[in-house]
Amino acid sequence: MNEQQRKEQAQIKQVDVATDQKSDKEKPLHEKTTADFAKYFETTYKPPNINKARKRGREKVEVHYDFDIPEDMRHIGSGKKFLIRTYGCQMNEHDTEVMAGILTEMGYEATSVTEEADLILLNTCAIRENAENKVFGEIGHLKPLKTEKPDLILGVCGCMSQQETVVNRIMKKHQHIDLIFGTHNIHRLPHLLKEAMFGKAQVVEVWSKEGDIIENLPKVRHGKIKAWVNIMYGCDKFCTYCIVPMTRGKERSRRPEDIIQEVRQLAAEGYQEITLLGQNVNAYGKDFDDIDYRFGDLMDDVRKIDIPRVRFTTSHPRDFDDHLIEVLAKGGNLLDHIHLPVQSGSSEVLRKMNRKYTREDFLELVRKIKAAIPNVTLTTDIIVGFPNETEEQFQETLSLVEEVGFESAYTFIYSPREGTPAARKKDDVTEEEKKDRLYRLNHLVNQQSREAMKKYQGQIVNVLVEGESKKDPDILAGYTEKSKLVNFKGPKEVIGQIVPVKITEAKTWSLDGVMVEEKSLEVN
Ligand code: SAM
Ligand code: SF4
Repeated sequence: MNEQQRKEQAQIKQVDVATDQKSDKEKPLHEKTTADFAKYFETTYKPPNINKARKRGREKVEVHYDFDIPEDMRHIGSGKKFLIRTYGCQMNEHDTEVMAGILTEMGYEATSVTEEADLILLNTCAIRENAENKVFGEIGHLKPLKTEKPDLILGVCGCMSQQETVVNRIMKKHQHIDLIFGTHNIHRLPHLLKEAMFGKAQVVEVWSKEGDIIENLPKVRHGKIKAWVNIMYGCDKFCTYCIVPMTRGKERSRRPEDIIQEVRQLAAEGYQEITLLGQNVNAYGKDFDDIDYRFGDLMDDVRKIDIPRVRFTTSHPRDFDDHLIEVLAKGGNLLDHIHLPVQSGSSEVLRKMNRKYTREDFLELVRKIKAAIPNVTLTTDIIVGFPNETEEQFQETLSLVEEVGFESAYTFIYSPREGTPAARKKDDVTEEEKKDRLYRLNHLVNQQSREAMKKYQGQIVNVLVEGESKKDPDILAGYTEKSKLVNFKGPKEVIGQIVPVKITEAKTWSLDGVMVEEKSLEVN
């Protein structure tokens, strides 16, 4: 997906490594102090190290059900407002919902007006350099506001704060930032805020080692129609270009019963659609040593819950097993749109990326999926300009996009990420060449999207209505089962419902239509 389509669619407190070795297991989570968490700090000040990260995984992940906000922090936010600016993927969006939940329980109220906020958090993304540049731009913009309002608390969290270079740069050059905390420290927000409010120094808490799973964190979900449900955290795939295994830690799966309970609760609250979330959802359950329960089993159980639409993102081709395909083929609330990132069409580039499948393996997987789910819509992620990618290898990507018939793709120019193996490679592909490849790839993807949209001309599709179109309040907007954006005329009362819409015009990235009254459907 290119920029145009995207638009259209829409802290380290200088902690002392504690010497107190007392076991922290018997204490409830909210009573634990920085010292209890010292075991996590051993790699705090080291840059991401792929060899060390690969050796991780021996420590058992503990699941905590006792998150609580200590009494003295429960009302710390009363009469105050917070604003969280979110960058990057759905994982970050969901982390923002959790932080908003914690802050609301502390008495804060949300605001979207920067000048009104008493607390501003930047929930950051590290996946590509331009994502980081945007955040540093915003950090600079916030400086005058902090000078004007010295009691304003400014925090940086998310993936960027897991990187030593970023933390050092903020500590050296951006002293107006009060708080920096990492992706494993979200449940420590009440404590960190208190330190930022009452301490004099910049508060920085980043655990390089992955934390445990904290189950009962509060959430303020964005809207009452669609919900994200985390099923696992982290990634163990170590694609050579990617920073995620370092910023998000090792793969940790939530217990099935906790996920099922959350989905049932969302169904009972009237949510119409859930998206099961993970960097690599189909690696779900691989880390369980007491039960044999994988992603296919989870999908089969979620299928039986009375919620109209179930999606998942993101799946990795390597872990897409036959059982999962068999379960997805049962349909029902399991939608027939699969986002399956391929990254490249060349087996040699895929080998260098450490994707652990070849072009042929990928095509064979697609063949199996299409045989089992004939109406399936496939979308993908692609990186162009991986170090030393040849024109022939790029041509293999184009031909694979055509052969699979992807209806949409998130397309990226390779961005070197410090600490990853690919970033150490010499690269003979020029920037112009990379841009040209991206242009040619987007041209093909746009063409395929347009063709796929044409099929809907004159058809009736089911649309989950999310709200008014941003461009025109008289027009409603929502998505089909296959994630096609539909703008249509209809009454506002249908917002939050799934309604039939007749398509009157197919565009490249969206469809226009009119709502079909139930009565005329019956007559038809
Ligand atoms: N776990 C998912 C997978 O394996 O497909 C993707 C997660 S990542 C947040 C989303 C996408 O960002 C990836 O699929 C990849 O295409 C892209 N990406 C990751 N690292 C990148 C880099 N260094 N440069 C350019 N694109 C990158
Ligand atoms: Fe990054 Fe996805 Fe590869 Fe994990 S599987 S390393 S998140 S691209």
